[in-house]
Amino acid sequence: MGSDGRQEDNAPELMGLFSLRRIADATSSYGSAKYVIFGVPFDGTSSFRRGSRLAPDSVRLAYDNLESFDFHYGVNFPLVPICDLGNMQVGEDVSEVIDTVEAATAEIFREGKIPVMIGGEHSVTVGAVRNIGRDCTMIIIDAHSDFREEYMGNRYNHACVTRRSLEILGPGRIYSVGTRSVSLEEYNSKEWKEVRFFTADEVRSKGISSVVNEIEKASPGRIYFSIDMDGIDPSEAPGVGTPEPYGLRAMEVRELIRHFAKRIVGFDIVEMTPVYDNGNTSMLAAKLIQDFIGSRESSLA
Ligand code: MN
Ligand code: MN
Repeated sequence: MGSDGRQEDNAPELMGLFSLRRIADATSSYGSAKYVIFGVPFDGTSSFRRGSRLAPDSVRLAYDNLESFDFHYGVNFPLVPICDLGNMQVGEDVSEVIDTVEAATAEIFREGKIPVMIGGEHSVTVGAVRNIGRDCTMIIIDAHSDFREEYMGNRYNHACVTRRSLEILGPGRIYSVGTRSVSLEEYNSKEWKEVRFFTADEVRSKGISSVVNEIEKASPGRIYFSIDMDGIDPSEAPGVGTPEPYGLRAMEVRELIRHFAKRIVGFDIVEMTPVYDNGNTSMLAAKLIQDFIGSRESSLA
């Protein structure tokens, strides 16, 4: 270390030869960034297949293979002010991790920037939701209702995210899309109707445009968008912690993102497990991030 304690003082001539992994299009500094990407490598409460702590770097690696120009949106990503802060330092305690996410996103929101968080397990979302304000709508993509009061003795388990978010945002603010795994206890809870759960079957029979229309009519304001990758069918997103058959199509999720992008003030993508992936899940996650930023920046309607 150098005399002022900074590691890079050691051999500045070597710094250009090494890099910390960043999203390829993240060419901006934090100060001038509009989109602030960061990873939260935490999977401490995961109940089945662990490994989501490895997802942020796996998504960055996949992102390297995407073109930096998207002709559909007409967006040249290196010109968009995107920064990547790297991965958050996390310990073992889920409550502390959520508090750290809360502190980080509070700062990002205060600066008027848009957090793009890569989990990690779904519990990390709660930290961001604490900052979005009660006038904000939340759209969740998930196979699971995540509506348990507590799970394995912990109210901040990843199986409780929607329940915790409801306590913060109140009734009528949360839309969860792709639901197909619900416990009897969750289904019977008196708060069940306070969240609008669109089952995967309902999306299949009525079409994703009916979901878009219902949300559009009821909630015209700002939106926080949280993607639990297991909401998407395991055929398209196999690398997840708790896979569930009969899911959404990736293009249906993209449709929601494209429609609401201009109103989205915060975005996360969670529950990927590279250990069980064939590469497609990380690739899809990278693409969904690009779809979000691309459609938000697009001058198309
Ligand atoms: Mn979830
Ligand atoms: Mn899930």
